[in-house]
Amino acid sequence: MLRDRNTKIIATLGPSSSSPSKIHSLFKSGADIFRLNFSHSNHYEHRKRVFHIRQYEKRIGRPIAILGDLQGPKLRIGNFKKSFHLLKEGERFILDLKSELGNEKRVFLPHPEIFKSVQHNTEILIDDGKIKLNVTKSNNEKIETEILTGGKISNNKGVNLPKTFVKLSPLTKKDFKDLELALDLSLDYVALSFVQKSKDLIKLRKIIKGQTGIMSKFEKPLAIQNMDEILKFSDAAMVARGDLGVEMPPEEVPIIQKKLVQASRDHGKPVVVATQMLDSMINAPSPTRAEASDIATAVYDCADCLMLSAETAAGKYPIESVKIMDRIIRGVESDTSYRQLIESKQVSLEETTSDAISSAASQVVKTVSAKAIFTYTRSGTTAKRASRERPSVPIIGLSPERLTSRQLAMIWGVHTIHAHEPKSFSGMIENACKLAKKEGIVKKGDSVVITAGAPIGVSGSTNNLRIAKIN
Ligand code: PGA
Ligand code: MN
Repeated sequence: MLRDRNTKIIATLGPSSSSPSKIHSLFKSGADIFRLNFSHSNHYEHRKRVFHIRQYEKRIGRPIAILGDLQGPKLRIGNFKKSFHLLKEGERFILDLKSELGNEKRVFLPHPEIFKSVQHNTEILIDDGKIKLNVTKSNNEKIETEILTGGKISNNKGVNLPKTFVKLSPLTKKDFKDLELALDLSLDYVALSFVQKSKDLIKLRKIIKGQTGIMSKFEKPLAIQNMDEILKFSDAAMVARGDLGVEMPPEEVPIIQKKLVQASRDHGKPVVVATQMLDSMINAPSPTRAEASDIATAVYDCADCLMLSAETAAGKYPIESVKIMDRIIRGVESDTSYRQLIESKQVSLEETTSDAISSAASQVVKTVSAKAIFTYTRSGTTAKRASRERPSVPIIGLSPERLTSRQLAMIWGVHTIHAHEPKSFSGMIENACKLAKKEGIVKKGDSVVITAGAPIGVSGSTNNLRIAKIN
């Protein structure tokens, strides 16, 4: 049952992967978390996916996390007269508020907010940056531009304004509907796209009232500037390299990835590295060497999770993609320099009992060569603090809360179990020893470390550490 791997895998579900048998295979091949991408599919299709996952979860008796990814204020142009038009470098192109079909001279941009925010001499990117425009003149209903990079332009292509702060509500009408579905389906995390400030998260937090976790997607330059603020108000983070790589020059993406992964770990929040990890496997049964290396880098950086998007949602080889990602992660995690790297990046401790116990637990594990750390946790905080230390043995996170036990599936090194909470500390120790044997982690004479709070049942009270010998 134990995965024997620290770094977790998220698989996005889509037409290539939504049958019960595909979902089971994805999980068996290594997917720990499933992602529903609300930019695609309808509510009926998402509901069916959740139903299949939960049925399977019940069958195998292991918590599985589900992440609902809200589209957010993704900007798009309108439609054209022809299937595509050709934009030529050096010529003029206009974005306006007229809903008529576009051509090579102009197109409808159905976002009045942009017209007020855009500045002269800033860039507007279309279709993931393939087309580049420079603003020469603008008013409340028309933006005139010079074409810096031309190319084919067609219906509904995405628009990015890297240097412009657009006053957009972080939740669109569609997001509110999708959020309602996410709460109705008791999803474990919802991801918010195009977050710019911590304020963007406040409204969402009010609506969800603790029913799910919030993942902030870092894909805007402003979010990078406000990294610490945003992390403080988030439950998890994503390095969303797709849009980030359009909004920022490619040479900055790897640096931001490293920074955000480390910052998230400092904050004790799980972080996901996402997009194009195995892009070539959408159409091919094996990855490029560069992709293998990219996955390895994210593992060496110590991210909690790696994400597959189109590879599993719409690609030809969804199962193979997860299997290969699993193999590459295991390869890195068994390298001796991986441990050295982890230990060279230490985190500073907060003056809390929880941090004191967690860091002590990591140390005790080494001293007595214990085989696992067992943490009893209601909110998940203790397991997350233990994971932040990146200990050399598995952390078994036990929670009586269904949501917590599922959310822990995303945390580095945590093997999550949904279990009733024993009434006494000695009961917890007995239980942990029994479980350790059942999960095949220990044999007679081995030690395990157990952390728990007293009084039992009170969240945030972790103040006990015990070494137990298996007999
Ligand atoms: P998306 O987010 O797939 O929803 O766009 C991830 C990214 O931008 O990398
Ligand atoms: Mn994105």
